[in-house]
Amino acid sequence: MDNETVSRNFIEQEIDKDLAEGRYDHVCTRFPPEPNGYLHIGHAKSILLNYGLAKKYNGQFNLRFDDTNPTKEKGEFVDAIERDVAWLGAKWDDRLYFASNYFEKMYEAAVLLIRKGKAFVCDLTADEIREYRGTLTEPGKESPYRNRSVEENLDLFERMKNGEFPDGSRVLRAKIDMASPNINMRDPVIYRVAHLHHQNTGDAWCIYPMYDFAHPLEDAFEGITHSICTLEFEDHRPLYNWVVENVGFDHPPRQIEFAKLYLTNVVTGKRYIKKLVENGTVDGWDDPRLVTIAALRRRGYTPESLQKFVELGGISKANSSTDYAMLEYCIRDDLKMKAPRMMAVLDPVKLVIDNYPEGVTEELEVPNNPENEALGSRKVTFSRELYIEREDFMEEPPRKYFRLFPGNEVRLMQAYFVRCVSYEKDENGKVTVIHCTYDPESRGGNSPDGRKVKGTIHWVNASTAVRVECRLYENLIDEEKGVYNEDGSMNINPNSLEIRTNCYVEPALAEAKPYDSFQFVRNGFFCADAKLSAPGAPVFGRVVSLKSSFKLPG
Ligand code: ATP
Ligand code: MG
Repeated sequence: MDNETVSRNFIEQEIDKDLAEGRYDHVCTRFPPEPNGYLHIGHAKSILLNYGLAKKYNGQFNLRFDDTNPTKEKGEFVDAIERDVAWLGAKWDDRLYFASNYFEKMYEAAVLLIRKGKAFVCDLTADEIREYRGTLTEPGKESPYRNRSVEENLDLFERMKNGEFPDGSRVLRAKIDMASPNINMRDPVIYRVAHLHHQNTGDAWCIYPMYDFAHPLEDAFEGITHSICTLEFEDHRPLYNWVVENVGFDHPPRQIEFAKLYLTNVVTGKRYIKKLVENGTVDGWDDPRLVTIAALRRRGYTPESLQKFVELGGISKANSSTDYAMLEYCIRDDLKMKAPRMMAVLDPVKLVIDNYPEGVTEELEVPNNPENEALGSRKVTFSRELYIEREDFMEEPPRKYFRLFPGNEVRLMQAYFVRCVSYEKDENGKVTVIHCTYDPESRGGNSPDGRKVKGTIHWVNASTAVRVECRLYENLIDEEKGVYNEDGSMNINPNSLEIRTNCYVEPALAEAKPYDSFQFVRNGFFCADAKLSAPGAPVFGRVVSLKSSFKLPG
């Protein structure tokens, strides 16, 4: 990619042109979520794109709840959405709007269209309307109610509003063109009768505007210049333009579409996540295995990592899916320098240093992050009894196994060289204790005489280590089989959550606060789970492992 393409995506090029040609003298964008669920990684892309454009052009960014549909919306989602947008770093200041506050103005816009002869009340049933609409290859048929007089339309529409007609009995339709090759332009319904309670406006309304009518108006009322949406609305753009033109705005907004973010092997659709929450597959909308923004935050993702992810993905007009590994790359890259590197043993086995004096504890000074001196150092205690990972010892090692086995010498990270002299097993043949001797001359993990060891393993001091729970995650969806089964059910990976209750960590980790992240050396990045941790008793979830075969594209 050359610099030009990196610095100017196609939306920015359009904005540049609009500003140069004087179509607008400023930029105002918005993020318009429907408060019917939690935001996910795809929304993060939209938020950061819209906010980023407003910032880049010294313009404004609105957060607007698109709450015109009273059946599905819930107040609880409003708070969650605000929290997520703010956490991502997008600032709307006092520019917070609710589309339902425009119902009166929308009604007036509809009346204006009726007066202009551009809208009519139609008594056809929903089925008839569908039938009259025609197909992609056949033009539609005009409604027999299309030529009602302005007066009759005004009267009927007002009576629709006053609650005189039952749900579904009448609609208001834009009068455009039943022969248009674009089906969206075939006299689309713009208002329906629905006696529904709305969480904001209560029972004030029993008619509600349709999305394709409401959305352009919301944008226009707020003075949005560039209304950025996803590709599936491309065919709706002529209607968007028709609405703002015929209602008559001086500086109508302009819709620009970009491709949705699709991530491999994850569920983003609200209705699927809702199903997983409701059937108990996950422990809420913020379950760390999900890719809602709340889940990613709980998992240990940072706003910076998601910003980077969105930046790397770029903005495109062609649908494609992004490798989940790219998301992991971004958090790994962000935490690499920021997170302290600590020792944690997730599957412990006792190691005893037979020649180390009993009752002695020494302190070793170790850097918090060898790649980032700014994080300083800490003291780690060392004594005769330690815990190491069970997999770091083998009775009968295969070739190229460089960790502990009888007779072999390894480095205990930052501490000493130790050589395995024997081991104990229980009646089931499980190794219970590994016996070693240490070389006192190798303090700090340095070779005393130039002799080499090939393996370096981590450890914790048994007497001071704190026992904690760690959680290891895999994708919720089976990568091999795809997201959905033929019958529409989801393909859940039965091993997506592994709970380890017997982990030992350095005592400093017991003080971890929710959202604190660490690198557990050799085991990956871990974050203190905000929902499961208690003061002094953190539960750590793995954000991401340390290694990946992922390569940055390009
Ligand atoms: P979903 O059904 O996936 O939850 P939605 O489109 O119904 O998403 P809205 O609340 O209507 O959710 O969307 C708010 C904004 O977020 C819209 O402008 C929409 O285009 C954008 N958006 C939604 N999904 C994605 C995605 N995967 N990638 C980029 N933008 C998205
Ligand atoms: Mg939607």
